[in-house]
Amino acid sequence: MRSISIFGATGSIGQSTFDLIRRAGGADAYRTVALTGARNVSLLAQMARELRAEVAVVAHEEELPALRAALAGSGVEAAAGEAAIAEAADRPADWVMSGIVGAAGLVPGMRALRHGRMLALANKESLVTAGSLLLSTAKAHGATILPVDSEHSAVFQALTGEDAGAVERVIITASGGPFRTWPMEKLARATVAEAKAHPNWSMGSRISIDSASMFNKALELIETREFFGFPPEMIEVLVHPQSIVHALVGFRDGGVMAHLGPADMRHAIGFALHWPDRGDVPVERLDLARLGSLSFEAPDPERFPALRLAREVMRVRGLAGAAFNAAKEIALDNFMTGRIGFLAMAAVVEETLAVLSAETGLGNAPTGLEDVLAMDRLARVRAAECAARLKEG
Ligand code: NAD
Ligand code: MG
Repeated sequence: MRSISIFGATGSIGQSTFDLIRRAGGADAYRTVALTGARNVSLLAQMARELRAEVAVVAHEEELPALRAALAGSGVEAAAGEAAIAEAADRPADWVMSGIVGAAGLVPGMRALRHGRMLALANKESLVTAGSLLLSTAKAHGATILPVDSEHSAVFQALTGEDAGAVERVIITASGGPFRTWPMEKLARATVAEAKAHPNWSMGSRISIDSASMFNKALELIETREFFGFPPEMIEVLVHPQSIVHALVGFRDGGVMAHLGPADMRHAIGFALHWPDRGDVPVERLDLARLGSLSFEAPDPERFPALRLAREVMRVRGLAGAAFNAAKEIALDNFMTGRIGFLAMAAVVEETLAVLSAETGLGNAPTGLEDVLAMDRLARVRAAECAARLKEG
């Protein structure tokens, strides 16, 4: 029986993964090792009981008594804290879902790779902050990384059986989010609720807001560069409001392979779960005749400055991705708590990158995880300073 762990089990990706496991037979079909979550102790305990997990881990130590109580009599071990989440990644599991949101997903994912596991990687922040380290760790330990972002799963599928040397360009699509057609003046006053309302996908709050600002697509450009190794000039973003075509790969003979599917992450998760086979996944089947038409347009660089910033990060590489992601996380926190406006998020990230570039150069390649984590911490401090200045100014 295959063993699995789900990091970020209580989130959107985690619950979709759980749904697939449950439909496949739950505890009778998979042996569940670890499930982790940050809040929502009762949901975590309920999932752990149902899958008869070895251990359930909650991110905050103060929640441990509540988790213990919720798991009483179940035989599931309870643990808490950042270190316990990382340790859970040391427990042997064949397949590990990296579904934590933000830079917090990096350490457990890296630990799983050091044990040679198959890592289904939804946590794009890992590739953005430490892409080269992640890939070299996987290689050194015979581990496999399977991309679970819909666009990257799409590129991966389009490349299967192809010669990577024959690829001319890779196009990842973007829905354009809820603000694609809003006037810029209105955009400056966009609220958190408006930014969270993604037209096609149901996702966690943070990635939904990142989709509205296209910081999500910016992360995905960097993710494409890091995971597949194509140079930045080969990677394009195409706005496609229906979110049916997830990515396209163009070859030197002019042929283009597109990947289509419903806007349901269970496809990409299911693909990774069954890989290298194709298994049954209960997503809605596409009905193109009913859809009638698919539309495409170029992204508006003025509306979505995040894409320009991502190009700069791809040019500099080194520790720029770690700085970019951390600054983005702090800018997002500031927007979510009402301290800065929607458009100010890009301003905070841009200024943080400029400050850090002058301070550290940013281009040095990390020699280990410590360098990445140190840059992550420094960028959070500098971004908070930038946000505070912006709020005063
Ligand atoms: P979410 O907010 O719904 O869930 C995040 C999970 O991480 C939850 O279980 C939460 O408890 C946990 N978590 C949050 N902070 C933590 C911390 N500091 N330490 C430990 N655990 C913590 O997010 P999501 O939408 O499921 O996204 C998860 C990851 O997958 C993100 O990296 C996101 O970019 C990526 N992703 C999501 C989707 C999607 O459709 N939701 C699509 C593509 C990629
Ligand atoms: Mg995506």
